[in-house]
Amino acid sequence: MEDCLFCKIVAGEIPADVVHQTERTVAFRDLNPQAPMHVLVVPRDHHANAAELAAADPQASAELVTTAAAVAAAEGHDDYRIVFNTGPGVGQSVFHTHLHVLAGRAMTWPPG
Ligand code: 5GP
Ligand code: ZN
Repeated sequence: MEDCLFCKIVAGEIPADVVHQTERTVAFRDLNPQAPMHVLVVPRDHHANAAELAAADPQASAELVTTAAAVAAAEGHDDYRIVFNTGPGVGQSVFHTHLHVLAGRAMTWPPG
């Protein structure tokens, strides 16, 4: 999709620190990390949010979660948090589905 930041990262048009790739997903470090490990896992295809991806491509949706687990395990984290912000009211700022994977520090609940 034109003018989508994460489509451009998937296409290699904008550089990113890519840590893992599968047929359907790309995982790269967040530019503004909120934990010692903060990786974003995105589908290669453009969908605006997690629900739209799940409806359109359940396999890719599942692969986001299995990729998140693989990334956390590869960096030695048994415990990690995965988050889909959905909608600007809860902080979604990039409208290409992305799963945040955060680990490496204590976290509180509920989130802010
Ligand atoms: P959201 O707020 O939509 O849930 O998450 C978007 C995330 O993308 C934010 O955590 C933000 O730091 C990250 N981000 C924004 N621009 C870039 C970029 O150009 N490169 C990378 N790697 N991450 C970005
Ligand atoms: Zn996109």
